[in-house]
This record gives sequence, C-alpha cells and structure tokens, in this order.
Amino acid sequence: MIDDRRFARPRKKLVEELREKGIQDERVLMAISKIPRHSLVDTALHSKAYNDTALPIGMGQTISQPYTVARQTELLEIEQGNKILEIGTGSSYQCMVLCEMGADVFSVERHNELYHRAKEALRNQGYKAMLKAGDGTLGWSTYAPYDGIVVTAGAPVVPQDLIKQLTIGGKLVIPVGDNKKQMMLKITRVSESEYHQEEFDNFKFVPLIGEKGWDN
Ligand code: SAH
Repeated sequence: MIDDRRFARPRKKLVEELREKGIQDERVLMAISKIPRHSLVDTALHSKAYNDTALPIGMGQTISQPYTVARQTELLEIEQGNKILEIGTGSSYQCMVLCEMGADVFSVERHNELYHRAKEALRNQGYKAMLKAGDGTLGWSTYAPYDGIVVTAGAPVVPQDLIKQLTIGGKLVIPVGDNKKQMMLKITRVSESEYHQEEFDNFKFVPLIGEKGWDN
C-alpha cells in the first residue's frame, strides 16, 4: 500500500476523534487507521485530509466525512467475506474501508470521470472491488443478492430495487430526506417479504440522482 509517514499522526488523531464521537466497532476504526485518505483528494487539500469533514473531489461531489463513513459502515455490521454493494463510489474512500474489512465489494457511480478515477485509486492502493458506471438507484442485479447495501448519497425515498437485492438478513443503510437533511435508515430484510426499519441520526449528503432518486 502506498502511504506517506507524514500522515500517520493526523490519521491516528482522526481515529481517536471518531472513537470520541461514538464509533465503537474496532474493525471500522482499524480500517480507517490504514486508509490513505489524503491520496484521494487534491494535493492542495492534503493538510485537511484527516480532518473529520467532507472535502470536494470535483464534479460537484465530495468525499464523505469520515464520521459518516464510519457510522454507515458500523451499521452494516459486516462480516469477513460478506458481499456488499455501495451506491456512489465517489472518491472510493468508503469502498476502501469496506475492502479493508474483508468484504467482497461492488460499487456503482453515476459520474464516468469519478468511476475512472476510483478504479485507478483502488488499483494504486492494491484493493480489489468491482466498479460500474451507471445509475445505482436500480442497484446492480448481476451480482445480487447482497449481504449489505450502503447508499452514500441522499435519497428522496427508499429505492425498491435495492431492497429486492438484499439477502434474507441483509441490511440496507441509506440516508433518506429532502435536500437539507436526511435521516439514516437501516432496513433489514427479515424474510422474503418482510422488512424491519430502524432510524438513526440526521446527516447531509449530496443528492442521489437517478431513475429512482432525484431528477438531475
Ligand atoms: N462513497 C463516496 C461518497 C461520494 S459522494 C466516498 O467515499 O467518497 C456521493 C457519490 O454518489 C457522488 O460521487 C455521486 O456522483 C454519486 N451518485 C449520486 N447519485 C448516484 C446514482 N444514482 N448512482 C450512482 N452514484 C450516484
């Protein structure tokens, strides 16, 4: 893995900050302690790469706030070898966290340019994930069902295609709301036709744009 010793200390500090903010899953914290977030942002933003904030990655999109990534990952309750689908590859940061936790990762991004950049970033860091350029509001039926699906953009409603692509026991973690704030939902598929929904805190995401999301 390509890294730079300069960032070891700020990265360690970030992990401590996330722990103080309530992230409890040590495996998530361990993953975050390993991923070179600075390599996913412009050099001019390197000094801010380990602040607990979202940062611009071009195309009007952002690399999510580390706390948000940690919280969503924690809610997925990943086990080694789980098949996880991410909607909104963006910088590939969340994708790397999932890979680092031993998941088999699939990720969809609607911006072609970000898709290509993410592909290269993952390759540079030695992570293997299946990426696709397209509309993630429809999921990725080719590889379904998934043990977990994480949506990293704010949805107006829960896209039904995503629910249908979960295994029994599978979990969908998705922020749903308007353009100002979204509530984090965790929907567990308990049987072929039954789902259990839990609600968590409010967050602010870029919009999920697509057929079953917001209009462009
Ligand atoms: N998980 C990313 C967060 C990126 S921000 C990271 O860790 O960096 C959310 C991303 O979702 C943006 O890149 C945006 O282009 C993408 N997105 C929005 N709507 C989408 C859709 N319908 N399908 C796939 N990607 C989408």
